[in-house]
Amino acid sequence: MSSKQAPPPLPEPLRVPVTDSHTHLDMQDGTVEESLRKAASVGVTTVVQVGCDLKGSRWAAETAAAYENVHAAVALHPNEAPRIVHGDADGWSRQGAREGGGDTALDDALAEIDRLAGLSQVRAVGETGLDYFRTGPEGVAAQERSFRAHIEIAKRHGKALVIHDREAHADVLRILAEEGAPERTVFHCYSGDAEMAEVCAAAGYYMSFAGNVTFKNAQPLRDALTIAPLELVLIETDAPFLTPAPYRGRPNAPYLIPVTLRAMAEVRGIGEDAMAEAIAGHTARAFGY
Ligand SMILES: [Zn+2]
Ligand SMILES: [Zn+2]
Repeated sequence: MSSKQAPPPLPEPLRVPVTDSHTHLDMQDGTVEESLRKAASVGVTTVVQVGCDLKGSRWAAETAAAYENVHAAVALHPNEAPRIVHGDADGWSRQGAREGGGDTALDDALAEIDRLAGLSQVRAVGETGLDYFRTGPEGVAAQERSFRAHIEIAKRHGKALVIHDREAHADVLRILAEEGAPERTVFHCYSGDAEMAEVCAAAGYYMSFAGNVTFKNAQPLRDALTIAPLELVLIETDAPFLTPAPYRGRPNAPYLIPVTLRAMAEVRGIGEDAMAEAIAGHTARAFGY
């Protein structure tokens, strides 16, 4: 393994334990036990495991049932919904949904998400939303139908809503307002600027910052973090993606939360312990655990 692909070293442990509010353990190397042990050894004692399709959502629910410090979020990712409608979802991710696609296949899949959302270890519905980066105009109708359905499911079960918003800020905010956002709504991997952070703050939406807040070209994100009310700020890895600097390009995992947290504390001009304490409390409130 070249040092470029090698897992980054363990950071200095946090003194105040926090939660990785958004991770994909099923896409990372090693067992769940190994990931959780490594994370806990540096003060990342809890994770929210996020499902992106039916198979991943069932896995998230099962994993959260098996481990006390894992909470689940379940959904059809905004890039998955068009695949189901267009009949392109592979057998695994479609599992349980009707073959051949169409709105009926999407309805079948949503019915399974609805069932999973009722489980007590499932704390959130998501990630759902809109992704105009990976999905072209032909997928927008399916994304929007799926997004609206997930909002309804989250509200009916009283669960948090986890938003994936990629290059679709205005439409995500509009649809949330039209549907009426759930009481607890989290923008995962927050990617808006300071102006959007003001809109989110006014609406009471949580903003979860990922490793990209450390990237050199991410000043707009740091500006957003500077003005976001601290009680709405969360932290996540979105691992295996978005490894924080200086490890960009190497595999990400929940144990790297301290790297991002220290960078965030610096942006806010507060101590690491104060930052961790705030985030820990607000994450528990956002996900209701
Ligand atoms: Zn996402
Ligand atoms: Zn994600």
